[in-house]
Amino acid sequence: MSEGQALKMEPAECAVCRATAVSAAVEVARGLDFEYDTSADTFFMVECQTCRTIYLNPRPSAEELARIYPQNYYSYNYSNRVNALAIKVKDFLDKNKSKGWLKFCPAANPRFLDIGCGNGRNLEILEKLGLSRQNLYGLEINAETVEKLRDRGFNAFLGAAEDAALQLEKEEPFDLIVILQVLEHVKDPDLVMKSLAQLLKPQAVLVVETPNVNSLDCTLFKKRYWGGYHFPRHWYLFNKESLTRLGANAGLQVISVKYLPAQTFWIYSLHHIVKEKISDKLAGALFDPFRNLFLLSVFTAFDILRAKLGFSTSNIQVVFQKPPK
Ligand SMILES: [Zn+2]
Repeated sequence: MSEGQALKMEPAECAVCRATAVSAAVEVARGLDFEYDTSADTFFMVECQTCRTIYLNPRPSAEELARIYPQNYYSYNYSNRVNALAIKVKDFLDKNKSKGWLKFCPAANPRFLDIGCGNGRNLEILEKLGLSRQNLYGLEINAETVEKLRDRGFNAFLGAAEDAALQLEKEEPFDLIVILQVLEHVKDPDLVMKSLAQLLKPQAVLVVETPNVNSLDCTLFKKRYWGGYHFPRHWYLFNKESLTRLGANAGLQVISVKYLPAQTFWIYSLHHIVKEKISDKLAGALFDPFRNLFLLSVFTAFDILRAKLGFSTSNIQVVFQKPPK
């Protein structure tokens, strides 16, 4: 169970509209670090009354990052933890997704940048789809991962999303930038969007994928257990409107909105309820979203079907375009 001292926290503000009055935001959820038990703190999600952005307030201060992202954090050991068949399915879905991004890119051999590129999965997929390695760039916060990517000939840069402009401003601008499941983790998503906009060529596109709070599972589990809160690691949560506003702040226009399956949020929501109300062990055994193939299939199919019928899921993909010069 949870151990150690309380985390050092700091106050947050709405990064989308910068509303700061005390009455500007109201509590919508409170919960624990149900996934990793990195502390025993209770965390609060508040909703901005001006622009409906939901954000963690207060949030852990920078010196606590190593604690709230422990060594066993899933994105550090993805392939060790995830069922092999699930990886095959994910590869197939990701390849299709990447083909979808390229449709927004008229350039023949586009210059591509992945913010938070991890071990370079998307770079590899795009190379297989015909892009040349010299046009494939990644920004990644883990130094060891960056070294490995460089050894393989990719253009890998070390830094957090906030460092994008600083690290890459000397490079030729890009035709396509993607930031997938990262914007919700950063300290200032407004600043990140503005710096990414700077790195785009005129008429180039930025693909953002992030949790969506206007969804059935968020509504059902809103007060405490929704997997999308990912306490205390998700700092900003959006919907179509707040993302549109965030893009407009950076001078970007929305050209496409799509809802993708969010199976892990469904499974985590159930996991958190069972963990708190029944048993930690039972929750871990039955509701591990990386191992339970049955639930993964059911919720993936459920969300794909719902998205096809026009409903929104908890995973939104917004494509922004930079205006012509
Ligand atoms: Zn706001």
